[in-house]
Amino acid sequence: VVEIRGLMKSFGDLDVLKGVDLDLFKGENLVVLGKSGSGKSVLIKIMVGLLKQDEGTMRVLGKEVSELKTKALNDLRLKIGFSFQNSALYDSMTVRENMEFPLVRNVKNLTRGEITKKIEELLDSVGLPQSINQMPSELSGGQKKRIGVARTLILNPEIMLYDEPTAGLDPITCMDINNLINQVREQYNTSSIVITHDLTCAKVTGDRQAVLLDGQFKSVGSFDEVFAHADDRRVKSFYDYNF
Ligand code: ATP
Ligand code: MG
Repeated sequence: VVEIRGLMKSFGDLDVLKGVDLDLFKGENLVVLGKSGSGKSVLIKIMVGLLKQDEGTMRVLGKEVSELKTKALNDLRLKIGFSFQNSALYDSMTVRENMEFPLVRNVKNLTRGEITKKIEELLDSVGLPQSINQMPSELSGGQKKRIGVARTLILNPEIMLYDEPTAGLDPITCMDINNLINQVREQYNTSSIVITHDLTCAKVTGDRQAVLLDGQFKSVGSFDEVFAHADDRRVKSFYDYNF
């Protein structure tokens, strides 16, 4: 569903992406790891058309993103669910209002009842059915994250992007979020990219691991292939520091 070939991006004389090749296959969870500043967010921004590459191709759901006009780009973005690091809930709105917002803005002709039913179904599936009338300030960090994922799912995305889903959470809540990422894939047939520094999250959610080093993906494969038997000293040290 995503095919990246020879992607290059520089900012002035800072070469961030230097010929990136990567595929996201239908139905898989692909984990992207890499040091802070290695270009993970830049890659995601090119994927949703917020930045343009200098060279190479970024095909998402069959379309070259850099060639899309405004309308087509908006249509594509609606098929990509983006779960932000800070959950990005609106603090002055209830959980219900937070979840309605993308629906009301982007999908016309839904009745009140249909909207409520959809919200209830999603809150149920993230395990927070009783939170519908709560304010974000009444929720814990992990709960906000769950609501953020539920809100992202409301437009039935085909691709989910999780940017550091477990950052700042305790180990048990991390495990809950990891399970949620796997459950979402099963239940909603999404293909996902999980950006993380958390190797437990990587191991539990990733079908494949991709490590961004010096502007390229040098190791891509199963967790054991990439980490347990890492040839590259820097990939190995990533692993050694985490375990
Ligand atoms: P982190 O793990 O900290 O989120 P990252 O891998 O997501 O890091 P990016 O945000 O992709 O890192 O940034 C990669 C590099 O590109 C950084 O050096 C950053 O300063 C630079 N960069 C990103 N966006 C811009 C921009 N719009 N203009 C100039 N430089 C940028
Ligand atoms: Mg980033």
